Amino acid sequence: MAQLLTHWVGGAPLADESARRGEIFDPASGRVVRHVPLADTATVDRAVAAAREAFDTTWRASTLAQRTRVLFAFRELVAAHRDELASLIVGEHGKVHADAVGEVQRGLEVVEFACGIPQLLKGGYSENVSTGVDSWSLRQPLGVVVGITPFNFPAMVPMWMFPVAIACGNTFVLKPSEKDPSVSLRVAELWREAGLPDGVFNVVHGDREAVDALLQHPDVAAVSFVGSTPIARHVFTTATQHGKRVQALGGAKNHMVVLPDADIELAADAAVAAAYGSAGERCMAISAVVAVGDVGDRLVPAIAKRMAGLRVGPGTDPTSEMGPLVTLEHRDRVAGYVAAGADAGAEVVVDGRGLAVEGAEEGFWLGPCLLDHVRPDMTVYRDEIFGPVLSVVRVDDHRQAIRLVNDNPYGNGTAIFTDSGTEARRFQHEIEVGMVGINVPIPVPMAYYSFGGWKHSLFGDTHVHGTEGVHFYTRGKVVTARWPETQGQTSLHFPTSS
Ligand code: NAD
Repeated sequence: MAQLLTHWVGGAPLADESARRGEIFDPASGRVVRHVPLADTATVDRAVAAAREAFDTTWRASTLAQRTRVLFAFRELVAAHRDELASLIVGEHGKVHADAVGEVQRGLEVVEFACGIPQLLKGGYSENVSTGVDSWSLRQPLGVVVGITPFNFPAMVPMWMFPVAIACGNTFVLKPSEKDPSVSLRVAELWREAGLPDGVFNVVHGDREAVDALLQHPDVAAVSFVGSTPIARHVFTTATQHGKRVQALGGAKNHMVVLPDADIELAADAAVAAAYGSAGERCMAISAVVAVGDVGDRLVPAIAKRMAGLRVGPGTDPTSEMGPLVTLEHRDRVAGYVAAGADAGAEVVVDGRGLAVEGAEEGFWLGPCLLDHVRPDMTVYRDEIFGPVLSVVRVDDHRQAIRLVNDNPYGNGTAIFTDSGTEARRFQHEIEVGMVGINVPIPVPMAYYSFGGWKHSLFGDTHVHGTEGVHFYTRGKVVTARWPETQGQTSLHFPTSS
């Protein structure tokens, strides 16, 4: 009988045996490895109550020194347990171990950023704004804040949120993806070991019922969401209607524009890494190459040549470069897009359907697929596929390329490959996308910048982590003070400086 996970509430596991349950698969074997309780409203209430109590009784009043000490200790623990956390990810997500280590590392960088919170929370001060009057600004935590996160980065995406939120003095309720939730529970244990007071970090598992309970809860002040565009829209609409501050990051369709003057070897390496790394289940994965002029005739064979050498296998095998997809349904859905592309007239240059991995025949496998001569009206181009499928769209010139990217409803990431500084500069200036790479295929900002897309890739105003994260998890206050030496006279005039 597969293990039933617990929630984590008030600094301890919370068993929920009567809850509805979800199955957690090892995607490489196709077997159910654990069950996850799917919380109802009552369990969500308990998690929020624990977070509220911790905010009111300990964390809101914690000193910056106390917070940074806990953050530094947590940083050391995550670093020391990097491999263990990565193994938990591999066992439920399926990505290869090195990739899972990479995601823990990128999350760790946000913890390191948050260790500098005393500097980040400094306010402003103006002496003598009027005679004998001083004024200063400060930022204070919001209260209980919530993170709702996707399956594809079960450690990194929550770590975009909670280190900054907690460093700012908030308490946190995480609702991780029900597909790969185990790593969140291990992270909760590490927080406790680091000395975080009980109730500051909580994990509640679930699906729509739990999410909707969080979005409507009167004690939740803000919601950070990362996931697909339809759910991001639902989260944004519902939570804002309930008066919450919201940042909801959605799906993506990331284009890599390759100009005729680009270094073809560099561009082909980049396209293969960015399209097939983590089986294409990255929100910054490249899913469309825009081949300008005649570059497609050189680029497509160079990409196909590299694909022939890619090793697909279990994430636990150190020789594997790409693992399985997260579920059987998702694998079949992705494969369906390849069939639809072929039916619509695209050329299937490399077909990964039918791939079998010896000894793991029941895994959710799909080999890397490459489609050429894809047109913008085809579903393989229009939809976010979120799998190892790369489409090549051919256009005549750079203007058409920019128009194609800008006409796309998503605006998460994009890249241009060229040797021309002039073309690169025009591209970064005109492109309507939040994160841009120049000869860099996956331009994920470092922790001290903020991560976020435009258009249907983000609902709300604020990107995650970096200074925008600090801004999101705090609210401003301005104090104006006078210590009168003599009694003033009563006046109904609007206050101005004198
Ligand atoms: P998803 O939208 O299915 O799920 C995300 C979260 O929402 C999960 O916690 C899930 O339990 C919850 N959820 C699912 N259905 C819901 C519903 N009907 N009502 C309320 N909550 C619901 O996304 P996913 O499949 O887990 O992750 C892949 C998606 O996430 C892709 O679209 C990818 O582009 C996107 N993503 C975006 C970014 C970004 O930074 N923009 C980063 C990572 C992933």
